[in-house]
Amino acid sequence: MDCDKCDREAVMHAAYSGAHLCDAHFCTSVEKRVRRRIRSDALVPSDASPENPQTWVVGLSGGKDSVVLTHILDETFGRDPRIDLVALTIHEGIEGYRDESLDACLELSEALEMRHEVVAYDDEFGVRMDDVVESDPMDMAACAYCGVFRRDLLERYADEFGADKLLTGHNLDDEAQTALMNFLEGDLEQMAKHFDASIGPFAAGDDDLRERPASDRFVPRAKPLRDVPEKEIALYAHLMDLPTHMAECPHASEAYRGEIQELLLELEENHPGTRHSIMAGYEELAALAAQRYRDDGTGADLTDCERCGSTTSGDVCRKCRLLEAL
Ligand code: SF4
Ligand SMILES: [Zn+2]
Ligand SMILES: [Zn+2]
Repeated sequence: MDCDKCDREAVMHAAYSGAHLCDAHFCTSVEKRVRRRIRSDALVPSDASPENPQTWVVGLSGGKDSVVLTHILDETFGRDPRIDLVALTIHEGIEGYRDESLDACLELSEALEMRHEVVAYDDEFGVRMDDVVESDPMDMAACAYCGVFRRDLLERYADEFGADKLLTGHNLDDEAQTALMNFLEGDLEQMAKHFDASIGPFAAGDDDLRERPASDRFVPRAKPLRDVPEKEIALYAHLMDLPTHMAECPHASEAYRGEIQELLLELEENHPGTRHSIMAGYEELAALAAQRYRDDGTGADLTDCERCGSTTSGDVCRKCRLLEAL
Protein backbone atom coordinates (compact mmCIF):
# COMPACT_ATOMS: atom_id res chain seq x y z
CA MET A 1 0.00 0.00 0.00
CA ASP A 2 1.28 3.49 -0.85
CA CYS A 3 1.17 6.59 1.32
CA ASP A 4 -1.89 8.81 0.68
CA LYS A 5 0.36 11.84 0.35
CA CYS A 6 3.34 10.56 -1.63
CA ASP A 7 4.37 7.43 -3.52
CA ARG A 8 6.42 5.89 -0.75
CA GLU A 9 5.35 2.76 1.04
CA ALA A 10 2.86 3.22 3.89
CA VAL A 11 4.09 2.14 7.34
CA MET A 12 0.72 2.48 8.99
CA HIS A 13 -2.98 2.35 8.35
CA ALA A 14 -5.35 4.14 10.74
CA ALA A 15 -8.71 2.36 10.54
CA TYR A 16 -10.48 5.26 12.31
CA SER A 17 -9.53 7.74 9.58
CA GLY A 18 -8.78 5.46 6.65
CA ALA A 19 -5.31 7.07 6.30
CA HIS A 20 -2.29 5.21 4.92
CA LEU A 21 0.93 7.06 5.66
CA CYS A 22 4.65 6.61 5.02
CA ASP A 23 7.10 7.11 7.88
CA ALA A 24 7.72 10.81 7.17
CA HIS A 25 4.08 11.73 6.65
CA PHE A 26 3.03 9.68 9.66
CA CYS A 27 5.52 11.47 11.96
CA THR A 28 4.36 14.84 10.64
CA SER A 29 0.76 13.89 11.31
CA VAL A 30 1.53 12.98 14.95
CA GLU A 31 3.36 16.28 15.49
CA LYS A 32 0.49 18.20 13.86
CA ARG A 33 -2.07 16.64 16.16
CA VAL A 34 -0.01 17.50 19.25
CA ARG A 35 0.48 21.11 18.09
CA ARG A 36 -3.20 21.43 17.25
CA ARG A 37 -4.08 20.27 20.76
CA ILE A 38 -1.62 22.75 22.28
CA ARG A 39 -3.39 25.49 20.32
CA SER A 40 -6.94 24.39 21.02
CA ASP A 41 -6.25 24.04 24.74
CA ALA A 42 -4.56 27.48 24.58
CA LEU A 43 -1.49 26.30 26.47
CA VAL A 44 0.57 29.31 25.40
CA PRO A 45 -1.12 32.35 26.95
CA SER A 46 -1.35 35.48 24.82
CA ASP A 47 0.83 37.44 27.28
CA ALA A 48 3.76 34.99 27.23
CA SER A 49 6.84 36.81 25.92
CA PRO A 50 10.64 36.53 26.07
CA GLU A 51 10.53 38.98 29.02
CA ASN A 52 7.69 37.06 30.67
CA PRO A 53 8.29 33.41 29.72
CA GLN A 54 6.17 30.47 30.83
CA THR A 55 7.76 27.53 32.65
CA TRP A 56 6.41 24.13 31.68
CA VAL A 57 7.41 21.14 33.75
CA VAL A 58 7.16 17.89 31.78
CA GLY A 59 6.67 14.62 33.66
CA LEU A 60 9.33 12.37 32.08
CA SER A 61 9.20 8.68 33.07
CA GLY A 62 11.29 7.21 30.26
CA GLY A 63 8.28 5.36 28.83
CA LYS A 64 7.34 6.00 25.20
CA ASP A 65 4.56 8.50 25.95
CA SER A 66 6.54 10.95 28.05
CA VAL A 67 9.61 10.58 25.81
CA VAL A 68 7.57 11.42 22.69
CA LEU A 69 5.92 14.34 24.49
CA THR A 70 9.26 15.76 25.63
CA HIS A 71 10.74 15.32 22.15
CA ILE A 72 7.84 17.06 20.38
CA LEU A 73 7.75 19.89 22.95
CA ASP A 74 11.46 20.42 22.41
CA GLU A 75 11.02 20.43 18.62
CA THR A 76 8.19 22.94 18.95
CA PHE A 77 9.37 25.21 21.76
CA GLY A 78 13.06 24.39 22.28
CA ARG A 79 14.10 27.64 20.62
CA ASP A 80 11.03 29.66 21.62
CA PRO A 81 12.05 32.28 24.24
CA ARG A 82 8.48 32.40 25.56
CA ILE A 83 8.64 28.85 26.96
CA ASP A 84 11.14 27.30 29.42
CA LEU A 85 10.97 23.51 29.55
CA VAL A 86 12.03 21.46 32.59
CA ALA A 87 11.85 17.65 32.61
CA LEU A 88 10.97 16.05 35.96
CA THR A 89 11.46 12.34 36.68
CA ILE A 90 10.01 10.63 39.74
CA HIS A 91 12.05 7.69 41.02
CA GLU A 92 9.71 5.31 42.85
CA GLY A 93 12.32 2.83 44.02
CA ILE A 94 11.38 -0.19 41.91
CA GLU A 95 14.24 -2.60 41.40
CA GLY A 96 15.09 -3.44 37.79
CA TYR A 97 12.54 -1.00 36.40
CA ARG A 98 13.10 2.61 37.32
CA ASP A 99 16.88 2.61 37.04
CA GLU A 100 16.68 1.48 33.40
CA SER A 101 13.99 3.96 32.52
CA LEU A 102 16.01 6.71 34.23
CA ASP A 103 18.80 5.97 31.72
CA ALA A 104 16.36 6.71 28.89
CA CYS A 105 15.41 10.01 30.58
CA LEU A 106 19.06 11.01 31.00
CA GLU A 107 19.89 10.12 27.41
CA LEU A 108 17.00 12.18 26.10
CA SER A 109 17.49 15.25 28.28
CA GLU A 110 21.21 15.29 27.47
CA ALA A 111 20.54 15.00 23.75
CA LEU A 112 18.02 17.85 23.95
CA GLU A 113 20.13 19.88 26.41
CA MET A 114 17.04 20.22 28.55
CA ARG A 115 17.10 20.89 32.30
CA HIS A 116 16.27 17.58 34.01
CA GLU A 117 15.45 17.00 37.67
CA VAL A 118 15.05 13.67 39.47
CA VAL A 119 13.09 13.30 42.70
CA ALA A 120 13.01 9.99 44.62
CA TYR A 121 10.40 8.59 47.03
CA ASP A 122 13.29 7.34 49.11
CA ASP A 123 14.77 10.81 49.64
CA GLU A 124 11.43 12.56 50.00
CA PHE A 125 9.41 10.08 52.03
CA GLY A 126 11.99 7.55 53.27
CA VAL A 127 10.19 4.70 51.45
CA ARG A 128 10.72 2.74 48.24
CA MET A 129 7.81 1.25 46.31
CA ASP A 130 9.41 -2.22 46.59
CA ASP A 131 9.14 -1.94 50.42
CA VAL A 132 5.64 -0.44 50.27
CA VAL A 133 4.47 -3.48 48.30
CA GLU A 134 6.05 -5.77 50.93
CA SER A 135 4.39 -4.17 53.95
CA ASP A 136 1.10 -2.99 52.34
CA PRO A 137 -0.50 -1.79 55.61
CA MET A 138 -3.72 -0.58 53.95
CA ASP A 139 -4.25 -3.78 51.93
CA MET A 140 -4.34 -1.86 48.65
CA ALA A 141 -2.94 -2.24 45.16
CA ALA A 142 0.59 -0.88 44.67
CA CYS A 143 -0.62 1.81 42.26
CA ALA A 144 -2.99 3.20 44.89
CA TYR A 145 -0.03 4.19 47.07
CA CYS A 146 2.22 5.05 44.18
CA GLY A 147 -0.31 7.34 42.49
CA VAL A 148 -0.75 9.41 45.66
CA PHE A 149 3.01 9.76 46.18
CA ARG A 150 3.70 10.58 42.55
CA ARG A 151 0.97 13.23 42.37
CA ASP A 152 2.30 14.82 45.55
CA LEU A 153 5.86 15.09 44.23
CA LEU A 154 4.88 16.24 40.74
CA GLU A 155 2.73 18.98 42.28
CA ARG A 156 5.26 20.00 44.89
CA TYR A 157 8.25 20.14 42.56
CA ALA A 158 6.37 21.71 39.67
CA ASP A 159 5.49 24.43 42.15
CA GLU A 160 9.06 24.67 43.42
CA PHE A 161 10.40 25.07 39.86
CA GLY A 162 7.94 27.90 39.31
CA ALA A 163 5.86 25.93 36.79
CA ASP A 164 2.97 27.63 35.08
CA LYS A 165 1.89 24.24 33.76
CA LEU A 166 2.58 20.58 34.39
CA LEU A 167 2.46 18.50 31.21
CA THR A 168 2.08 14.73 31.14
CA GLY A 169 2.17 12.15 28.35
CA HIS A 170 -1.34 10.67 28.62
CA ASN A 171 -2.40 9.36 25.22
CA LEU A 172 -5.82 8.86 23.60
CA ASP A 173 -6.20 5.34 25.01
CA ASP A 174 -5.39 6.52 28.57
CA GLU A 175 -7.90 9.34 28.39
CA ALA A 176 -10.66 7.27 26.78
CA GLN A 177 -10.16 4.68 29.56
CA THR A 178 -10.47 7.35 32.25
CA ALA A 179 -13.55 8.78 30.54
CA LEU A 180 -15.21 5.38 30.27
CA MET A 181 -14.39 4.56 33.90
CA ASN A 182 -16.00 7.82 35.02
CA PHE A 183 -19.07 7.06 32.85
CA LEU A 184 -19.42 3.53 34.20
CA GLU A 185 -18.97 4.68 37.78
CA GLY A 186 -21.58 7.36 37.13
CA ASP A 187 -19.24 9.87 38.69
CA LEU A 188 -20.10 13.31 37.35
CA GLU A 189 -18.21 15.10 40.06
CA GLN A 190 -15.08 13.21 39.04
CA MET A 191 -15.70 14.25 35.41
CA ALA A 192 -15.94 17.85 36.56
CA LYS A 193 -12.65 17.56 38.43
CA HIS A 194 -10.99 15.86 35.45
CA PHE A 195 -12.10 18.72 33.21
CA ASP A 196 -10.89 21.49 35.52
CA ALA A 197 -7.66 19.75 36.48
CA SER A 198 -6.32 18.69 33.11
CA ILE A 199 -8.49 18.71 29.98
CA GLY A 200 -10.40 22.01 29.96
CA PRO A 201 -8.98 24.72 27.68
CA PHE A 202 -7.14 27.64 29.29
CA ALA A 203 -8.94 30.06 26.98
CA ALA A 204 -11.99 29.36 24.85
CA GLY A 205 -12.72 32.63 23.06
CA ASP A 206 -16.39 33.60 23.36
CA ASP A 207 -17.32 30.34 25.02
CA ASP A 208 -15.78 31.38 28.32
CA LEU A 209 -17.91 28.97 30.36
CA ARG A 210 -15.77 26.19 28.88
CA GLU A 211 -12.58 27.75 30.20
CA ARG A 212 -11.15 26.19 33.27
CA PRO A 213 -10.87 28.60 36.17
CA ALA A 214 -7.44 29.63 37.45
CA SER A 215 -6.48 27.93 40.72
CA ASP A 216 -3.85 29.19 43.11
CA ARG A 217 -3.84 25.82 44.89
CA PHE A 218 -2.71 23.58 42.04
CA VAL A 219 -0.31 23.88 39.14
CA PRO A 220 -2.64 23.34 36.16
CA ARG A 221 -2.02 20.14 34.22
CA ALA A 222 -2.31 19.47 30.49
CA LYS A 223 -2.09 16.45 28.20
CA PRO A 224 -0.98 17.44 24.71
CA LEU A 225 -0.75 13.80 23.45
CA ARG A 226 -4.36 13.00 24.22
CA ASP A 227 -5.48 12.91 20.58
CA VAL A 228 -2.88 10.33 19.58
CA PRO A 229 -3.55 6.59 20.05
CA GLU A 230 -1.05 4.63 22.11
CA LYS A 231 0.05 2.44 19.20
CA GLU A 232 0.89 5.48 17.09
CA ILE A 233 3.01 6.92 19.89
CA ALA A 234 4.95 3.66 20.07
CA LEU A 235 5.42 3.72 16.28
CA TYR A 236 6.54 7.36 16.37
CA ALA A 237 9.10 6.62 19.11
CA HIS A 238 10.40 3.71 17.06
CA LEU A 239 10.59 5.59 13.73
CA MET A 240 12.28 8.60 15.37
CA ASP A 241 14.66 6.25 17.19
CA LEU A 242 13.96 7.88 20.56
CA PRO A 243 15.46 6.40 23.73
CA THR A 244 12.58 4.70 25.54
CA HIS A 245 12.20 2.07 28.20
CA MET A 246 9.49 -0.38 27.19
CA ALA A 247 9.31 -2.75 30.19
CA GLU A 248 6.23 -2.66 32.37
CA CYS A 249 6.38 -1.93 36.08
CA PRO A 250 6.38 -5.24 38.00
CA HIS A 251 3.82 -3.84 40.47
CA ALA A 252 1.33 -2.65 37.80
CA SER A 253 -2.01 -3.56 39.27
CA GLU A 254 -4.84 -1.37 38.11
CA ALA A 255 -7.21 -4.28 37.53
CA TYR A 256 -10.30 -2.29 36.62
CA ARG A 257 -8.43 -0.10 34.16
CA GLY A 258 -7.06 -3.27 32.54
CA GLU A 259 -10.58 -4.56 31.97
CA ILE A 260 -11.64 -1.24 30.46
CA GLN A 261 -8.55 -1.22 28.27
CA GLU A 262 -9.43 -4.63 26.82
CA LEU A 263 -13.02 -3.62 26.29
CA LEU A 264 -11.98 -0.45 24.47
CA LEU A 265 -9.49 -2.25 22.24
CA GLU A 266 -12.17 -4.71 21.21
CA LEU A 267 -14.69 -1.93 20.55
CA GLU A 268 -12.11 -0.01 18.55
CA GLU A 269 -11.32 -3.10 16.49
CA ASN A 270 -14.99 -3.64 15.60
CA HIS A 271 -15.97 0.03 15.42
CA PRO A 272 -12.98 2.16 14.46
CA GLY A 273 -13.20 5.69 15.89
CA THR A 274 -14.78 4.65 19.20
CA ARG A 275 -12.03 6.23 21.32
CA HIS A 276 -12.31 9.54 19.47
CA SER A 277 -16.08 9.63 19.77
CA ILE A 278 -15.99 8.73 23.47
CA MET A 279 -13.64 11.66 24.06
CA ALA A 280 -15.67 14.09 21.96
CA GLY A 281 -18.85 13.34 23.93
CA TYR A 282 -17.02 13.14 27.23
CA GLU A 283 -15.43 16.55 26.87
CA GLU A 284 -18.84 18.15 26.25
CA LEU A 285 -20.32 16.38 29.23
CA ALA A 286 -17.36 17.06 31.51
CA ALA A 287 -17.50 20.76 30.60
CA LEU A 288 -21.17 20.86 31.63
CA ALA A 289 -20.46 18.91 34.80
CA ALA A 290 -17.65 21.35 35.64
CA GLN A 291 -20.04 24.29 35.34
CA ARG A 292 -22.55 22.55 37.58
CA TYR A 293 -20.09 21.56 40.30
CA ARG A 294 -18.11 24.78 40.13
CA ASP A 295 -21.34 26.63 40.87
CA ASP A 296 -21.69 24.44 43.91
CA GLY A 297 -18.57 26.11 45.28
CA THR A 298 -16.18 23.19 44.73
CA GLY A 299 -12.81 24.23 46.10
CA ALA A 300 -14.14 26.17 49.07
CA ASP A 301 -13.68 23.12 51.31
CA LEU A 302 -9.95 22.78 50.58
CA THR A 303 -7.38 23.58 53.25
CA ASP A 304 -3.68 22.99 53.96
CA CYS A 305 -2.61 19.64 55.40
CA GLU A 306 -1.64 20.02 59.06
CA ARG A 307 1.55 18.00 58.54
CA CYS A 308 2.93 18.86 55.12
CA GLY A 309 0.96 21.90 54.00
CA SER A 310 -0.26 20.42 50.74
CA THR A 311 -3.85 20.97 49.64
CA THR A 312 -6.41 18.59 51.13
CA SER A 313 -10.11 18.38 51.93
CA GLY A 314 -9.51 16.97 55.46
CA ASP A 315 -7.09 17.94 58.24
CA VAL A 316 -4.35 15.56 57.14
CA CYS A 317 -3.76 14.72 53.47
CA ARG A 318 -3.92 11.21 52.06
CA LYS A 319 -0.19 11.04 51.44
CA CYS A 320 0.58 11.84 55.10
CA ARG A 321 -1.94 9.23 56.25
CA LEU A 322 -0.40 6.58 53.99
CA LEU A 323 3.11 7.48 55.16
CA GLU A 324 1.99 7.21 58.76
CA ALA A 325 0.52 3.74 58.13
CA LEU A 326 3.83 2.66 56.62
S1 SF4 B 1 2.50 0.83 37.62
FE1 SF4 B 1 1.72 1.41 39.63
S2 SF4 B 1 3.32 0.86 41.08
FE2 SF4 B 1 4.26 0.85 39.05
S3 SF4 B 1 5.13 2.92 38.82
FE3 SF4 B 1 3.06 2.97 37.93
S4 SF4 B 1 1.72 3.65 39.59
FE4 SF4 B 1 3.68 3.01 40.53
ZN1 LIG C 1 4.22 9.91 2.40
ZN1 LIG D 1 0.13 16.08 54.20
